[in-house]
Amino acid sequence: MKKILIVEDELSIAQLERDYLQVSGYEVEVATEGDKGLQLVMHESYDLVILDLMLPGVDGYEICRRLRSVSEVPVIVVSAKKEDSDKIRVFGLGADDFMTKPFSPSELVARVNAHMSRYDRLVNAAKDRRNEDILEIRDLSFDRAARRVMLYGKEITLTQKEYDLLLFLAEHPNTVFTKEDLFRNIWGFEVVGDTATVTVHVKKIREKIEIDPTKPKYIETIWGVGYRFHR
Ligand code: CA
Repeated sequence: MKKILIVEDELSIAQLERDYLQVSGYEVEVATEGDKGLQLVMHESYDLVILDLMLPGVDGYEICRRLRSVSEVPVIVVSAKKEDSDKIRVFGLGADDFMTKPFSPSELVARVNAHMSRYDRLVNAAKDRRNEDILEIRDLSFDRAARRVMLYGKEITLTQKEYDLLLFLAEHPNTVFTKEDLFRNIWGFEVVGDTATVTVHVKKIREKIEIDPTKPKYIETIWGVGYRFHR
Protein backbone atom coordinates (compact mmCIF):
# COMPACT_ATOMS: atom_id res chain seq x y z
CA MET A 1 0.00 0.00 0.00
CA LYS A 2 1.32 3.47 -0.91
CA LYS A 3 2.31 5.55 2.08
CA ILE A 4 1.72 9.28 2.41
CA LEU A 5 3.03 11.68 5.03
CA ILE A 6 0.96 14.74 5.93
CA VAL A 7 2.81 17.54 7.72
CA GLU A 8 0.10 19.88 8.98
CA ASP A 9 -0.36 21.63 12.32
CA GLU A 10 -4.11 22.32 11.96
CA LEU A 11 -5.58 19.10 13.23
CA SER A 12 -8.95 19.47 11.51
CA ILE A 13 -7.24 19.90 8.12
CA ALA A 14 -4.84 17.04 8.77
CA GLN A 15 -7.77 14.77 9.64
CA LEU A 16 -9.74 15.84 6.59
CA GLU A 17 -6.78 15.08 4.32
CA ARG A 18 -6.10 11.80 6.08
CA ASP A 19 -9.72 10.61 5.84
CA TYR A 20 -9.99 11.33 2.13
CA LEU A 21 -6.66 9.68 1.36
CA GLN A 22 -7.38 6.60 3.48
CA VAL A 23 -10.73 6.11 1.74
CA SER A 24 -8.82 6.31 -1.54
CA GLY A 25 -6.62 3.39 -0.45
CA TYR A 26 -3.54 5.12 0.92
CA GLU A 27 -1.74 4.51 4.17
CA VAL A 28 -1.37 7.87 5.93
CA GLU A 29 0.88 9.19 8.65
CA VAL A 30 0.49 12.67 10.19
CA ALA A 31 3.06 14.97 11.77
CA THR A 32 1.60 18.07 13.45
CA GLU A 33 4.79 20.02 13.91
CA GLY A 34 7.80 20.86 11.79
CA ASP A 35 10.57 19.09 13.66
CA LYS A 36 8.67 15.82 13.67
CA GLY A 37 7.86 16.23 9.98
CA LEU A 38 11.50 16.86 9.13
CA GLN A 39 12.64 13.88 11.17
CA LEU A 40 10.12 11.61 9.42
CA VAL A 41 10.94 12.70 5.85
CA MET A 42 14.65 12.28 6.50
CA HIS A 43 14.46 8.86 8.14
CA GLU A 44 11.32 7.15 6.86
CA SER A 45 10.30 6.36 3.34
CA TYR A 46 7.07 7.71 1.79
CA ASP A 47 5.54 7.62 -1.67
CA LEU A 48 4.31 11.21 -1.41
CA VAL A 49 4.44 14.11 1.07
CA ILE A 50 1.74 16.71 1.69
CA LEU A 51 3.31 19.74 3.27
CA ASP A 52 1.98 22.81 5.06
CA LEU A 53 4.30 25.82 5.08
CA MET A 54 3.60 27.61 8.37
CA LEU A 55 4.38 25.13 11.11
CA PRO A 56 5.60 25.26 14.68
CA GLY A 57 9.33 24.57 14.70
CA VAL A 58 10.98 23.95 11.33
CA ASP A 59 8.84 25.45 8.54
CA GLY A 60 7.63 23.76 5.37
CA TYR A 61 10.18 25.49 3.16
CA GLU A 62 13.04 24.00 5.14
CA ILE A 63 11.43 20.55 5.20
CA CYS A 64 11.02 20.68 1.42
CA ARG A 65 14.61 21.79 0.91
CA ARG A 66 16.04 19.07 3.16
CA LEU A 67 13.77 16.37 1.72
CA ARG A 68 14.96 17.23 -1.80
CA SER A 69 18.56 16.67 -0.78
CA VAL A 70 17.76 12.99 -0.20
CA SER A 71 14.67 12.10 -2.23
CA GLU A 72 12.74 12.78 -5.45
CA VAL A 73 9.40 11.73 -3.92
CA PRO A 74 6.44 13.96 -4.98
CA VAL A 75 5.70 16.90 -2.67
CA ILE A 76 2.36 18.75 -2.68
CA VAL A 77 2.33 21.97 -0.68
CA VAL A 78 -1.04 22.88 0.86
CA SER A 79 -0.87 26.32 2.38
CA ALA A 80 -2.89 29.40 3.35
CA LYS A 81 -0.20 31.47 1.65
CA LYS A 82 -1.41 32.62 -1.71
CA GLU A 83 1.25 35.06 -2.90
CA ASP A 84 3.01 34.20 -6.13
CA SER A 85 6.32 34.76 -4.36
CA ASP A 86 5.53 31.93 -1.90
CA LYS A 87 4.63 29.57 -4.74
CA ILE A 88 7.75 30.52 -6.66
CA ARG A 89 9.83 29.88 -3.59
CA VAL A 90 8.44 26.38 -2.91
CA PHE A 91 8.69 25.37 -6.56
CA GLY A 92 12.27 26.59 -6.44
CA LEU A 93 12.85 24.27 -3.51
CA GLY A 94 11.61 21.32 -5.57
CA ALA A 95 7.91 21.01 -4.64
CA ASP A 96 5.78 19.44 -7.38
CA ASP A 97 2.45 21.12 -6.71
CA PHE A 98 0.80 23.88 -4.70
CA MET A 99 -2.76 24.08 -3.39
CA THR A 100 -4.14 27.10 -1.57
CA LYS A 101 -6.31 26.71 1.51
CA PRO A 102 -9.25 26.36 1.64
CA PHE A 103 -8.98 23.50 -0.82
CA SER A 104 -11.23 20.77 -2.16
CA PRO A 105 -10.25 17.42 -0.60
CA SER A 106 -11.40 15.57 -3.74
CA GLU A 107 -9.11 17.72 -5.83
CA LEU A 108 -6.27 16.97 -3.44
CA VAL A 109 -6.88 13.23 -3.88
CA ALA A 110 -6.99 13.65 -7.67
CA ARG A 111 -3.67 15.49 -7.60
CA VAL A 112 -2.15 12.89 -5.28
CA ASN A 113 -3.21 10.13 -7.70
CA ALA A 114 -1.76 12.00 -10.66
CA HIS A 115 1.60 12.67 -8.98
CA MET A 116 1.76 9.13 -7.70
CA SER A 117 1.32 7.56 -11.15
CA ARG A 118 3.71 10.01 -12.76
CA TYR A 119 6.35 9.16 -10.16
CA ASP A 120 5.74 5.42 -10.68
CA ARG A 121 6.31 5.84 -14.40
CA LEU A 122 9.57 7.68 -13.75
CA VAL A 123 10.81 5.06 -11.31
CA ASN A 124 9.90 2.21 -13.67
CA ALA A 125 11.59 3.90 -16.61
CA ALA A 126 14.76 4.23 -14.54
CA LYS A 127 14.53 0.55 -13.59
CA ASP A 128 14.13 -0.48 -17.24
CA ARG A 129 17.19 1.53 -18.20
CA ARG A 130 19.12 -0.12 -15.41
CA ASN A 131 18.04 -3.61 -16.54
CA GLU A 132 19.24 -2.87 -20.06
CA ASP A 133 22.64 -1.89 -18.68
CA ILE A 134 23.11 -5.06 -16.66
CA LEU A 135 24.07 -8.36 -18.25
CA GLU A 136 24.41 -11.36 -15.98
CA ILE A 137 25.84 -14.66 -17.11
CA ARG A 138 26.50 -17.31 -14.49
CA ASP A 139 28.86 -15.70 -11.95
CA LEU A 140 29.76 -12.77 -14.19
CA SER A 141 27.86 -9.52 -14.14
CA PHE A 142 28.45 -6.64 -16.58
CA ASP A 143 27.41 -3.07 -15.94
CA ARG A 144 27.52 -1.78 -19.49
CA ALA A 145 26.87 1.85 -18.54
CA ALA A 146 29.82 1.90 -16.15
CA ARG A 147 31.95 -0.58 -18.19
CA ARG A 148 32.50 -2.73 -15.11
CA VAL A 149 32.60 -6.49 -14.70
CA MET A 150 31.95 -8.29 -11.46
CA LEU A 151 32.87 -11.89 -10.73
CA TYR A 152 31.07 -13.34 -7.71
CA GLY A 153 30.06 -9.74 -6.94
CA LYS A 154 33.68 -8.57 -6.85
CA GLU A 155 34.94 -6.16 -9.49
CA ILE A 156 37.68 -7.44 -11.77
CA THR A 157 40.08 -5.13 -13.55
CA LEU A 158 40.27 -5.50 -17.30
CA THR A 159 41.97 -3.37 -19.93
CA GLN A 160 39.64 -1.66 -22.41
CA LYS A 161 40.18 -4.27 -25.11
CA GLU A 162 39.88 -7.17 -22.66
CA TYR A 163 36.57 -5.71 -21.52
CA ASP A 164 35.34 -5.19 -25.09
CA LEU A 165 36.30 -8.71 -26.08
CA LEU A 166 34.78 -10.38 -23.04
CA LEU A 167 31.57 -8.36 -23.33
CA PHE A 168 31.28 -9.09 -27.05
CA LEU A 169 31.61 -12.82 -26.41
CA ALA A 170 29.21 -12.71 -23.44
CA GLU A 171 26.62 -10.84 -25.53
CA HIS A 172 26.72 -13.69 -28.06
CA PRO A 173 26.84 -16.79 -25.88
CA ASN A 174 27.16 -20.26 -27.43
CA THR A 175 28.24 -18.74 -30.74
CA VAL A 176 31.57 -19.71 -32.24
CA PHE A 177 33.72 -16.86 -33.53
CA THR A 178 36.94 -17.18 -35.45
CA LYS A 179 39.90 -15.14 -34.26
CA GLU A 180 39.52 -13.07 -37.43
CA ASP A 181 35.87 -12.34 -36.55
CA LEU A 182 36.86 -11.23 -33.09
CA PHE A 183 39.77 -9.14 -34.26
CA ARG A 184 37.57 -7.30 -36.77
CA ASN A 185 34.80 -6.75 -34.23
CA ILE A 186 36.96 -5.49 -31.39
CA TRP A 187 39.92 -3.87 -33.09
CA GLY A 188 38.32 -2.91 -36.39
CA PHE A 189 39.63 -2.98 -39.93
CA GLU A 190 41.84 0.05 -39.61
CA VAL A 191 44.10 -1.25 -36.89
CA VAL A 192 47.36 -3.04 -37.54
CA GLY A 193 47.63 -6.35 -35.77
CA ASP A 194 46.72 -9.95 -36.22
CA THR A 195 44.81 -12.79 -34.68
CA ALA A 196 47.63 -13.46 -32.22
CA THR A 197 46.41 -10.32 -30.45
CA VAL A 198 43.10 -12.10 -29.83
CA THR A 199 44.87 -15.16 -28.44
CA VAL A 200 46.89 -13.03 -26.04
CA HIS A 201 43.80 -11.16 -24.83
CA VAL A 202 41.80 -14.33 -24.29
CA LYS A 203 44.68 -15.70 -22.23
CA LYS A 204 44.78 -12.55 -20.08
CA ILE A 205 41.01 -12.59 -19.57
CA ARG A 206 41.08 -16.24 -18.54
CA GLU A 207 43.73 -15.52 -15.94
CA LYS A 208 41.38 -12.94 -14.43
CA ILE A 209 38.06 -14.79 -14.53
CA GLU A 210 38.80 -18.50 -14.52
CA ILE A 211 39.50 -20.54 -11.41
CA ASP A 212 41.73 -22.74 -13.57
CA PRO A 213 42.74 -20.86 -16.75
CA THR A 214 43.90 -24.14 -18.34
CA LYS A 215 40.37 -25.51 -18.04
CA PRO A 216 38.30 -22.46 -18.99
CA LYS A 217 34.59 -22.48 -18.18
CA TYR A 218 33.64 -19.16 -19.78
CA ILE A 219 35.62 -18.65 -23.00
CA GLU A 220 36.07 -22.08 -24.57
CA THR A 221 38.56 -22.83 -27.30
CA ILE A 222 37.03 -24.55 -30.30
CA TRP A 223 40.06 -26.19 -31.82
CA GLY A 224 40.77 -25.18 -35.39
CA VAL A 225 37.95 -22.62 -35.36
CA GLY A 226 38.13 -20.03 -32.60
CA TYR A 227 36.30 -19.24 -29.39
CA ARG A 228 32.88 -19.58 -27.88
CA PHE A 229 31.44 -18.08 -24.70
CA HIS A 230 29.78 -20.84 -22.75
CA ARG A 231 26.54 -19.70 -21.14
CA1 CA B 1 -0.01 25.79 9.34
